[in-house]
Amino acid sequence: MIAKNILNADLHCHSVVSDGTLTPEALAERAKTNGVELWALTDHDEVGGQHRAAAAARAQGLAYLSGAEISVSFANETVHIVGLGFDPDNAALQQGLRNTRGGREQRAVEMAESLAKVGIPGAFEGALKFVGNPDLISRTHFARFMVESGVCRDTSEVFRKYLTEGKPGYIPHRWATLRDAVSWITQAHGIAVIAHPGRYKFTANEEYALFTEFKAHGGQAVEVVTGSHTPQEYVKYAETAREFGLAASRGSDFHSPDESHTDLGALPMLPGELIPVWELLADRIQ
Ligand code: AMP
Ligand code: MN
Ligand code: MN
Ligand code: MN
Repeated sequence: MIAKNILNADLHCHSVVSDGTLTPEALAERAKTNGVELWALTDHDEVGGQHRAAAAARAQGLAYLSGAEISVSFANETVHIVGLGFDPDNAALQQGLRNTRGGREQRAVEMAESLAKVGIPGAFEGALKFVGNPDLISRTHFARFMVESGVCRDTSEVFRKYLTEGKPGYIPHRWATLRDAVSWITQAHGIAVIAHPGRYKFTANEEYALFTEFKAHGGQAVEVVTGSHTPQEYVKYAETAREFGLAASRGSDFHSPDESHTDLGALPMLPGELIPVWELLADRIQ
């Protein structure tokens, strides 16, 4: 029996299968070393690492939930929806994710063209050197190339000066719809979670619409304690979880020992009064 909120659950991180720098096996080992008790690997738009992650967790004696982080377009913003505890072999989920990944290569070509115009040539080939999964070239890989080639000191400087709206290298992209992402997860018997809501640049009305529509489509949880939130945002989104009757999740969003501020398992516990998402997933823990 998994105890209530006092559980070191880390239900959000990335491997080389998307834009992390560690393998699923190395992440499982790091999670175990850091005292994680329940783990999920949530690669962007991809479940290709799920069987490896589950096997690695088993080898470490670490409880595991399947995971993915799906890119969604909502109100002219990119929103991320985490799925947990689904069947990673579900055909409709896999097809939906394949379609979501589909435009990434063309987008990357256009990102490189935009960077070339401001005097940064060769970014497509440069980013590709950092890509573990050819289907999943992301802004993170461009950021690593720009650090390596000395354009910026670190990846956060890259995202301040490039690759974001209004800056060189930014190419708008249409991802999955909120409805589709939630339904791929739920029909594969998983639970949909709004990832790091504090990161979106929404007005109060847009944020209300996101939570309302997410609930209406069958979404059941929200990340409250994440590496992307400030302590004030833990409080704010704990309140939002209560207001919308959503369960709460906790995850570092760890990508790399060299880049991530929050290590696996190194977060405050969920506030006590919330329903932890893992209570809804007890029968899907491996
Ligand atoms: P993409 O899916 O290609 O649009 O890339 C999104 C990824 O870029 C996120 O998952 C993060 O890993 C990374 N990213 C976005 N914004 C930032 C930021 N401000 N600092 C560091 N990494 C970021
Ligand atoms: Mn990422
Ligand atoms: Mn995200
Ligand atoms: Mn993430």
